[in-house]
Amino acid sequence: MPEGPSVERWLQAFRRSVEKQKLIFEQHPTIESRTAYEGIGEGGDNTLVIDRMCEDTVFAELETLAAEGHAFIAVSEERGTVEFGDSPSTRVVIDPIDGSVNARRMIPAHSLSIAVASGDSMGEVAVGYVYEFGKGEEFVGVLGQGARVDGVEFTTPEGDGMELVAMEAGKPSRVIPVAEVLDGHAYRIRSPGSIAISLSYVGAGRYDGMLTTRPCRSVDAAAAQLIAREAGAFVAFEGLELSNAPLDLERRYQLAGACTEGDLEILSRAQAAIENPA
Ligand SMILES: [Mg+2]
Repeated sequence: MPEGPSVERWLQAFRRSVEKQKLIFEQHPTIESRTAYEGIGEGGDNTLVIDRMCEDTVFAELETLAAEGHAFIAVSEERGTVEFGDSPSTRVVIDPIDGSVNARRMIPAHSLSIAVASGDSMGEVAVGYVYEFGKGEEFVGVLGQGARVDGVEFTTPEGDGMELVAMEAGKPSRVIPVAEVLDGHAYRIRSPGSIAISLSYVGAGRYDGMLTTRPCRSVDAAAAQLIAREAGAFVAFEGLELSNAPLDLERRYQLAGACTEGDLEILSRAQAAIENPA
C-alpha cells in the first residue's frame, strides 16, 4: 500500500466528496445551469463551473487528510499537480467529472474517478475508485484484493465473443475505421461517454470490451484500469508495460479493455486502423 492514509480512510474521503457532488448536481438541474465555462483546465479541456466545483469537493477532503499529517501529490484534471506535505511519494490522480459532456447535457452516465498510487505509473495504482452518478454505483479496486461494486466482490466473466463493445471519445471520422475492423467481431457498439465507467463495466462483464478512438489522459483511466484488472479483465495502454505508463497530465493513451486477451487483441487492432489517433 502507498504511504499515507489507510484504504478505508481514503474511501471515506472519496464518499464524502460524492455526497457533496450530488448536491452540486441537484443545485444545477438543467442543461443551461450546467453549461457555464471558466477557462481551460490543466488537462487541456474547457473547464465547466461544475468541473471546478466538483474538483473543489475532492480538494477539501485532501486538505483534511493533509491536516491529519499525510503527504501526497495530487494530479487533477483542472488544477494540475498540487503537492501536500513534505517529499510525498504517494500520488492521487483525480478526474472530478469523467463524462463532463454527459453531465452538462443532463445525461446520467458520468463519474468521479480517483486513483491512489505508490509511485508515478499505472502499475503502481493501489486503490481505484469510480462512482457512477446515474445508477449511483460505487466501483472499488484494491491492488491484490479484488474489485467490488457497492461493497460486493465481482469478477470478470469468461468471455464468449463480444456482444457489446463500448467505444469512447467517438469522433465520427475515427469511428469508421474502428467499425470496419470490429465488423464480424462485435454484435453491438455502445458509446457511454465516460471512460472510467466503460472500463469498470468491462471488469464487471457488462461490456465485453471497450476502446478509445482518441487518446485519453491518465486521469480518465487510472482508477478504472485497476478495478478492471483486479476483477480479471485485460487492459492495454498501446502495448506499454503498466510500469511505463505515467500518471501525469501530459501523456495520452489509446486505451482498450476486454474480458479476454483474444478480444483485447481485436480491439487493439481496431485502434491501429485509425490513421491520425492523436
Ligand atoms: Mg473530467
